[in-house]
Amino acid sequence: MKRCLPFVVAVLLSAMTAEGRTLEEVLASITPASYEEAHTNLFVHDGMNRGFTGDLDGNIHRVPAHQHDAARDFILEQFEAHELDAWLDPFWFTRFYGAVNYTYTNCNNVVAIQRGIASNAQWFIVGAHYDSVDPGQFSQLSPGADDNASGVAAVLELARVLSDYTFRHHIVYIAFDAEEKGLKGAWHFADTYTTNNPALTNLIQRADVGGVLSLDMLAYNPPGPNHNRVRIYGGSSSSNAPVQVALRHAFLEHTEMDVVHSGSIAASDHHPFHARGMDACLLIEYNVWSNPHYHRTTDSVDTPDYIDYVYATELTRAVAAYLMREAEILLPPTLSLTSTEEQDSFSLAWTAQSNAVYRVDYADDLAPTTTWQALTVITNTPGDAVLYWEDHIGPVMQRYYRVEHVYEP
Ligand SMILES: [Zn+2]
Repeated sequence: MKRCLPFVVAVLLSAMTAEGRTLEEVLASITPASYEEAHTNLFVHDGMNRGFTGDLDGNIHRVPAHQHDAARDFILEQFEAHELDAWLDPFWFTRFYGAVNYTYTNCNNVVAIQRGIASNAQWFIVGAHYDSVDPGQFSQLSPGADDNASGVAAVLELARVLSDYTFRHHIVYIAFDAEEKGLKGAWHFADTYTTNNPALTNLIQRADVGGVLSLDMLAYNPPGPNHNRVRIYGGSSSSNAPVQVALRHAFLEHTEMDVVHSGSIAASDHHPFHARGMDACLLIEYNVWSNPHYHRTTDSVDTPDYIDYVYATELTRAVAAYLMREAEILLPPTLSLTSTEEQDSFSLAWTAQSNAVYRVDYADDLAPTTTWQALTVITNTPGDAVLYWEDHIGPVMQRYYRVEHVYEP
């Protein structure tokens, strides 16, 4: 005998902060237009600069000049707008130019943390320096559109998109200061916020760092045989270092870019982390060594046919895919519901991550006092994108469901 079911409602409580989406849909929300908007807010036009004063008297401190602090403040505002735990990380340093030892003060990294939910969460650190070279260093007032507003825009896009989701592991987003003066911001962070001493429980244990990425120069992609290529440089020279393998994998799976492992290099912000024993690498445009605008006044968005936003967006998406996989995003499921012929059972289907764990609950009403009943906990098969569960509801006339992506069953 067929029973008539007036209506059945599916409820998806796990989608309260972000609608159900697939990994590819999340990546697609990073667009050339959104990337460009972040980038052009970083003072990347002719005549602009994010460096320091260049007083030749060593007794006069060199301090941030031009648009340096305005860029810093914009980055902090963006992190805060995404409701991340964000702050300025101040430091100072000295450095010789010629025979003169200059003191640089009022330097600030901009740091933001997105906490993961796992009790044994690892740390994934993605950073890009926001300072550009200044006349006190190279006699060039460089806007640093490629070096390195391009990397900072990527970090801002990652923070904007990924902060809507829950992750198992922690993510740290950093805009480093004073990279051009000798990786000073990255050294400061690595030595101030990470430790090998287990007694220092307020710091990041280096053994718990799953990977560190420096994004430095992501937007120069001239036509020719090396078009749409990227370089990965290690801290470690081995291309089998886990961070390099995982980043290459993200490129191969989600972009059309060719990845070229280029050995190791110490000339960017991944290096201090590598030197302190963390697995770190650099992502950089393939054509960096032939970039005619490198450290020059023409490293500007106003230089024709220079900044490639489509390319920079692809690189940013690959890094997002890396973080989603490695820091283990918990994508909310999108639930759909179909009745069977007999109409006394219902088949639930939802978008599911490979190997992820879901809990299915039901309730027979939606009053404020409703207690959800556990129906099942189910682990998806590796590789499957949709998961099904059939509920035999018997004589019940209506039923509500929710499916939540959980980490622990
Ligand atoms: Zn740089």
